[in-house]
Amino acid sequence: MSIIVQKFGGTSVADSQKILAAARKAIRAQIEGNQVVMVVSAMGKNTDMLVELAREISEQPPAREMDMLLSTGEQVSVALMAMAIHSLGHEAVSLTGAQIGIVTDSTHTKARIQSISTDRMRRALDEGKIVIAAGFQGVDEAFDITTLGRGGSDTTAVALAAVLDADACEIYTDVDGIYTTDPRIVPEARRVRQISYNEMLELASAGAGVMHNRAIEFAKKFAVPVHVRSSFSDVPGTMIVAEPETRGLPVCGAAKVKNEARITILGVPDRPGAALTLFSQIAAKKIAMDMIVQSVAADGKADISFTVFRDDLPATLTAVEEADRELGAEGYSHDDDVSKISVVGLGMATQTGVAEQMFRALAEKGINIQMISTSEIKISVLVSRRDAQEALRTVHEVFQLDREPPEAPAASSPAVASAAGDKAEIVARMERMEDLLIEDITLDESQSAVTVVGLPDSPGLASKVFREVAAAGVMVDMIVQSIGREGHANITFTIPRDELPPCMEVVTRLAEQLGCPVPSSAPEMAKLSVFGVGMRSHTSVAQRMFQSLAVVGVNVEVISTSEVRVNAVVEGGRGRKALAALQHAFADAMV
Ligand code: ADP
Ligand code: ASP
Ligand code: MG
Repeated sequence: MSIIVQKFGGTSVADSQKILAAARKAIRAQIEGNQVVMVVSAMGKNTDMLVELAREISEQPPAREMDMLLSTGEQVSVALMAMAIHSLGHEAVSLTGAQIGIVTDSTHTKARIQSISTDRMRRALDEGKIVIAAGFQGVDEAFDITTLGRGGSDTTAVALAAVLDADACEIYTDVDGIYTTDPRIVPEARRVRQISYNEMLELASAGAGVMHNRAIEFAKKFAVPVHVRSSFSDVPGTMIVAEPETRGLPVCGAAKVKNEARITILGVPDRPGAALTLFSQIAAKKIAMDMIVQSVAADGKADISFTVFRDDLPATLTAVEEADRELGAEGYSHDDDVSKISVVGLGMATQTGVAEQMFRALAEKGINIQMISTSEIKISVLVSRRDAQEALRTVHEVFQLDREPPEAPAASSPAVASAAGDKAEIVARMERMEDLLIEDITLDESQSAVTVVGLPDSPGLASKVFREVAAAGVMVDMIVQSIGREGHANITFTIPRDELPPCMEVVTRLAEQLGCPVPSSAPEMAKLSVFGVGMRSHTSVAQRMFQSLAVVGVNVEVISTSEVRVNAVVEGGRGRKALAALQHAFADAMV
């Protein structure tokens, strides 16, 4: 018999009427001949209220007790949901994470799933019951209750669908699908029919709060098609599958992380392993770093900038202080009044000028870009928080995200079916379900890097640089920009080696016009790319990468990170050595 997992978010179970409506949906699916597992979130804003209550008692409540508290929200809703189903004349059983056997590690408030037992669920399903699973929670080996991180019920749902080999995983929520950006912020946003796992992974970690990013990690890893739809209407919703909606367009969506913080460590000695000290301290605190930009070394010293969620700033600064001391750096600065705006799309990997188009649109609105980090399918910029709303609307408009794509949608991918065929094998191999999974490590030895320093930090500069570079017919690959010691902007980007002469001509002329120092180039560079699932949410990936490279004496010159990829640019002659080191370091996580 086919199995359906249906997840209902907080708004969808906010009161007794809504609980009854959700119960009816599950019963309908059962009557249609399916075995049904419901995953339920805490009612309405219950989790927020519990967080607030804890804060009133203590500024830094122990994480274990926080989990004990937060897990109660879901326990209330599963019990009520089971009662609702009984009242409608059907059989149901509510189960907590522990009762199901969702075993996690012990990282309270951010725990990762290690294994899930299906025995009890299958028994109940075979007895004709609807299983009602508490979302967001698990239990560690010591039987302490854990939670998966805010929004984690999505992850429970997709993980259950994976282990039960369910035929469908439906996420019922308060919007009728995935939109090109949050429709509550940008009303012109368009609902998409279909979106690929990779795009959704990037969007979720770029701030699209509609799905927990780790849920998409599971979906991709175990080839679970996810259907996001409304609890309150019968609109078809959005399928999250292997294939994108269309391959023609460069951008499929945009997102904003409103509350970010930037940290810059000044004057870090430019030697292998220096960045590692910093990344290790931060990874040890399970903080996800983003937009890591290392400026070119001047007098043997580099500045390293990166962003974190603003809530993680106090803990990050503690780690930074320790690293600063250990490294003998020249101090650090931070800004917690910044937001990150990102655009995502599989199409941009094969189209040129996408970044330039984004920078120009922002420049035309007078919005200053403080930092840039690009990866194959994502471009992120950091702007002042007061500009964030306008920046999001601007990029949404410039890529015409409100319009239906001209092409017919790509068919639902056969890749899903074939990947699903391998699922049992993957599950068998993935003893720890949420482990890092590396799909590939690649080396591109044909790159050159160009660095322009000392640019005035004002709107339109990045746009000017990349407009002129594009006009010279040069294809830009990775771009990073950060603010250097004197408050100037420094931009580094990589290009194909044979395009270096025309590119240098352009940027040298530009630097002269702007009164900046002569730009520098590194003709022989190699780009290493580690591609997989969970690259950013596994906070230790960048650290592992730097560690393995430092051990063999390879210095990382430029780095960019995204949810599906970490890129590192190293000296050309060192590419092969670096590749071997990375293959060795990630051997246990390779597919
Ligand atoms: P639930 O409680 O059901 O898990 P969430 O509040 O976590 O619901 O997620 C749904 C919300 O996500 C929507 O109300 C919407 O405001 C927001 N959202 C953010 N980005 C997007 C997007 N790209 N598409 C749709 N909704 C989005
Ligand atoms: N109740 C939890 C939260 O609000 C989990 C979830 O709803 O997904 O974060
Ligand atoms: Mg949610």
